[in-house]
Amino acid sequence: ACVISPKAIVSDACASYSTLERLNRNVKPALDDLTSTTDFFSHYRLNLFNKKCPFWDDENGMCGNIACAVETLDNEEDIPEVWRASELGKLEGPLAKHPGRKIQKEKPMRPLQGGLGEGVGESCVVEYDDECDERDYCVPDDESTSSRGDYVSLLRNPERFTGYAGDGAKQVWDAIYRENCFQKSSFPSSASLGGDDEPHQAKGPAAMDFRAVMEAAGRQHVLEQQRQSNPLTPFVAKTGLEVEDECLEKRVFYRVISGMHASISTHLCWDFLNQTTGQWQPNVACYVSRLHEYPDRISNLYFNYALLTRAIAKLGPYLAEPGAYTFCTGDPAEDAATRAKVLAVAEQASSVPQIFDENLMFKNGEGPSLKEDFRNRFRNVSRLMDCVGCDKCRLWGKLQTAGYGAALKVLFEFDNGSPEIPVLKRTELVALFNTYARLASSLEAIQKFRAMVEEGEEVV
Ligand code: FAD
Repeated sequence: ACVISPKAIVSDACASYSTLERLNRNVKPALDDLTSTTDFFSHYRLNLFNKKCPFWDDENGMCGNIACAVETLDNEEDIPEVWRASELGKLEGPLAKHPGRKIQKEKPMRPLQGGLGEGVGESCVVEYDDECDERDYCVPDDESTSSRGDYVSLLRNPERFTGYAGDGAKQVWDAIYRENCFQKSSFPSSASLGGDDEPHQAKGPAAMDFRAVMEAAGRQHVLEQQRQSNPLTPFVAKTGLEVEDECLEKRVFYRVISGMHASISTHLCWDFLNQTTGQWQPNVACYVSRLHEYPDRISNLYFNYALLTRAIAKLGPYLAEPGAYTFCTGDPAEDAATRAKVLAVAEQASSVPQIFDENLMFKNGEGPSLKEDFRNRFRNVSRLMDCVGCDKCRLWGKLQTAGYGAALKVLFEFDNGSPEIPVLKRTELVALFNTYARLASSLEAIQKFRAMVEEGEEVV
């Protein structure tokens, strides 16, 4: 009775917000330790600059250029340059290039071009070249480019307010939600969906209507629950159950996207730049207008937390197997220290009864083709990240889609208790644990924001 099924009908008593918040009080410190003190989990490799937006022409200004990043703030030229969106969205810190395959083979421990900064163990950061797997939910970052990407310090580039907004950001979010436009029966083959190489994008008004309907249905349900009981207890609303002609998998897809969007909004509101004082501080008005007034969005954020918790708990036994994953090639001491921190997180994630039941998905008659459709659509979401016109937002957007992609892969591509060790690339592991850490920090920020609202803190 205490399992959060993807059907999302959850008994308040066992899987409430407070259950997950209690869990988070133990998980978050372990995650913070892992992601901030280990070289392996504090650096991410991605192709940030070499890929064009595959869906529309970013040369012409809707997205992907600096104009897109600066159009949000009125009269940008009136504010100091350091506070402008184009500056705030820039990457900071050393950026190291990935060594090519040939060089890696010849001399794996060669220093990286550019360098990653003082004291960073390169054997814990450099990734050996890997091949794509048809079970991936994300597009590997080296797809269609010869470059293998750059290594970026996540600690030097926190996810926070950048000022990126306006038409460019809206176009990306709209396109992401349009991917939710699944076809009910007769699922197209992966070829007609664009297969692995060709990005496909759903078109037409139906997708936008779907988001509106989902939001309305979710909000109505959550509000109804709030009227009936303590406003903080309902965990997952029956978001969209009332929506006609809509299947479970489609609803889960929507919730993952909406929960990711809610988490990004939480961080930009929590770490917000007050352009009058130059202080970074929480912005309660931002929280109220983007999250507090939309309980369904918050519910989707908690849903994602439950989903990632389950994926990490499922991975736990494999992570503990000696030799299954290596965290620092060539440095046994660092490898052991990092592994211990990974296991500490997995242990916490496994400390609650299974809170998400993935086995209910892809089980109907159309199961396998639906799964392929789901996977292709998720890959398109990851491709859409190349249309984000702000470097820092693109970094975290790519990392989080890769993190959800890795979680979905663990949940849906590997059987429970199977002896087969889930094959996860370094980038997938880093993305998975950092995405979990983002959600953990969102949960904490939401609780603090909620308290601020209850205390009547000024909404400016
Ligand atoms: P948006 O957040 O742009 O939302 C657009 C519309 O989507 C809303 O009007 C609403 O109808 C709907 N919507 C909003 N939230 C949800 C939800 N949770 N579920 C369902 N529907 C929803 N800005 C930063 O400052 N820092 C960042 O790190 C950052 N990262 C980004 C990453 C990506 C991938 C993208 C596309 C944008 C990012 N942005 C970032 C921009 C930010 O997300 C907003 O787009 C921007 O602040 C403008 O906000 P808005 O109020 O216009 O609404």
